[in-house]
Amino acid sequence: MNKIESEIKEIRKELKSIKNDLKTYINQNKLTDETSREYVQALIDNVKEEKLSKEYLEHWTCDHCGEHTHEVDYDYLGNGTNHLGCELKLEMGEKN
Ligand SMILES: [Zn+2]
Repeated sequence: MNKIESEIKEIRKELKSIKNDLKTYINQNKLTDETSREYVQALIDNVKEEKLSKEYLEHWTCDHCGEHTHEVDYDYLGNGTNHLGCELKLEMGEKN
């Protein structure tokens, strides 16, 4: 939990600095609102992707199928960060 909280703090910090950069950029280039809005959104998406693709996603990975489970509902998680479905499948396979 602490790790996730500190990552969220990091993301917030980065977003803040991006916003500042962006304000400067908009002032210098006099972008239209629509353009700047899209630009902000793209930057925010980039930060999210970047952050999620590192330790966070590595942690939230199913050992069995290798897919990320950070968005999987707790009801569908088995042991730790594994899919419940993958574990059940594995368990059934071992019994056969
Ligand atoms: Zn899985």
